[in-house]
Amino acid sequence: MIKLSELTEKLALYIDPVSGQHHLRATCTHTAGSLLHKFSVREYVAHPTYLSLQIDHHRHIHLEPEFLQYLNHSCDPNVYVDVTRHEIICLRDIDANEEVTFFYPSTEWAMEQVFHCACRSANCLGEIKGAMYLNRNLLPRYKFTPHIMEKLHEQLLEQRFVDNTDTN
Ligand SMILES: [Zn+2]
Repeated sequence: MIKLSELTEKLALYIDPVSGQHHLRATCTHTAGSLLHKFSVREYVAHPTYLSLQIDHHRHIHLEPEFLQYLNHSCDPNVYVDVTRHEIICLRDIDANEEVTFFYPSTEWAMEQVFHCACRSANCLGEIKGAMYLNRNLLPRYKFTPHIMEKLHEQLLEQRFVDNTDTN
């Protein structure tokens, strides 16, 4: 891994020389629940892109600062993107030099670009398509934004309705 630049006191930008992929690493230790970085809306996008973040049921944004586009997905994430407060919060203690990642389906309902995850965590889910497609048994493992929680709840109610009409 090659360090490209120190972005803030807490974050640095790295590149994997083999894959050419960028990622963010913590430059110091962080405690669970602490603020890693704030963000704002660089622009609203009409349709989700592979760089956009879903902030409510219908709005997708590109983030400011722009380097946050390199906040990659992991199935074992260490930060949570709070779309209400516009803050990136540590989910657990993070070591210096550890890659900073979040769980894409925690904000994305149905992703524009399905991708095959290679996060190498023990619980890697493989194909990542958005919260809509997650196995319900996996939901307690993750923290979701309020708009995703609402959709999951709706989906659960619809499923119960279908189950009931099937048995009647
Ligand atoms: Zn994974």
